[in-house]
Amino acid sequence: PTPLGPTPKLVIDLERMQQVPQEKAGPLSRYVATIQSQRGDYNGRVLSIRQEDLRSLAVIYDKSPSDLTEELINWGVLDPEARRAVDAF
Ligand code: C2E
Ligand code: C2E
Ligand code: C2E
Repeated sequence: PTPLGPTPKLVIDLERMQQVPQEKAGPLSRYVATIQSQRGDYNGRVLSIRQEDLRSLAVIYDKSPSDLTEELINWGVLDPEARRAVDAF
């Protein structure tokens, strides 16, 4: 293991996501709602997503995965630790 430990998970803070203006968070909210529906996982305060899903979201937002990660960290939706998950791409 590296000194920094294993790659952190991408964990979406659903409460913070709901506080981001809809014109920004809309595509993310719809994507997350689809995953919740596929899993039948509606009651969490957070949702762990796949690394692959961040790539898909980056395409949707027309940004690189690392730029989208910075945006999500700015919104408070991802923890700053998530940078290490994206560096592992
Ligand atoms: P699937 O990809 O065929 O996965 C079937 C089941 O394997 C999932 O059922 C889950 O119990 C387990 N599974 C697969 N990958 C993981 C993983 O990385 N971590 C964990 N903890 N379990 C995993 P589940 O959760 O009911 O999901 C049903 C289907 O919904 C999945 O079929 C997949 O097609 C879709 N899905 C669910 N969550 C996600 C997601 O976060 N991203 C994407 N792209 N699809 C998802
Ligand atoms: P963790 O992944 O660090 O998650 C910590 C807590 O955050 C979870 O506690 C749960 O309350 C919440 N959480 C994280 N991701 C999700 C999500 O996608 N949906 C929802 N509804 N809540 C989420 P919990 O459930 O007591 O799990 C404790 C630990 O047990 C997890 O830590 C993880 O290490 C493990 N775990 C739980 N479920 C699974 C699973 O389906 N697959 C795997 N591989 N590990 C799991
Ligand atoms: P996790 O459950 O702790 O899984 C960590 C990593 O192990 C996943 O990263 C994936 O690379 C691998 N993995 C775990 N289960 C499976 C599986 O059934 N099939 C395959 N092919 N790989 C698996 P990943 O994909 O980045 O997912 C990160 C986290 O997102 C997962 O952590 C889990 O909390 C959540 N997740 C992803 N997909 C699903 C899903 O289909 N259902 C559920 N319930 N949770 C999922």
